[in-house]
Amino acid sequence: MNDNDIVKVVNVLKRELEICEPPIVSSLAEKTRSPFQILISTLLSLRTKDEITAVACKNLFALASTPEEMLKLSEEKIIRAIYPVGFYRNKAKTILHICRELIDKYKSKVPDTAEELLSLKGVGRKTANLVAALGYNRKEICVDIHVHRISNRLGYVKTGTPEKTEYALKEKLPQKYWSIYNTLMVTFGKNICRPVSPFCSKCPVSMQCDRVGVVKSR
Ligand code: SF4
Repeated sequence: MNDNDIVKVVNVLKRELEICEPPIVSSLAEKTRSPFQILISTLLSLRTKDEITAVACKNLFALASTPEEMLKLSEEKIIRAIYPVGFYRNKAKTILHICRELIDKYKSKVPDTAEELLSLKGVGRKTANLVAALGYNRKEICVDIHVHRISNRLGYVKTGTPEKTEYALKEKLPQKYWSIYNTLMVTFGKNICRPVSPFCSKCPVSMQCDRVGVVKSR
């Protein structure tokens, strides 16, 4: 695709995906504006379906919505609240560890830069960038498997890993789209540009897409 086509792609997807349910972390960010809840919900969402993450977040935040409240819960109680998210035992441990670190090192406040967020146990680039972008409006792009796959299929970037996609997007994607790009691509990836056999026949941006690597579609 032509680099300028990304403007059209973003605008068309913004319009077309309005009726779709956004990813749980994005809708939670919209509702709560709480960096702490964005951080914990992003951790819960890793390797977990959105519907399951949504229930886990609801259960957990009903018990505790600050680092101090979370530390009052036992590991077992957190496990019961978040089950069956992927790796629920490890995630319960990580949540408690992070809460301790937030209280000890950051006066209970979630740090606002990707660099500091990356220093927290269990926080990788995807989580750090999403918290910085959605929690603090920082200029970061969260690149997960959907963002990586679709950006490559469109022919907008040509990269082998999500991390390389992040750097490539930061080079060429207009900054005004950075904060919404993840939400748009995740929603698009779950509904139309699916990992296996995307719905190219009903895709609203098929005219702009190079369909790189697509061997089977519907
Ligand atoms: S045309 Fe197919 S591969 Fe390209 S963005 Fe649309 S659904 Fe994805």
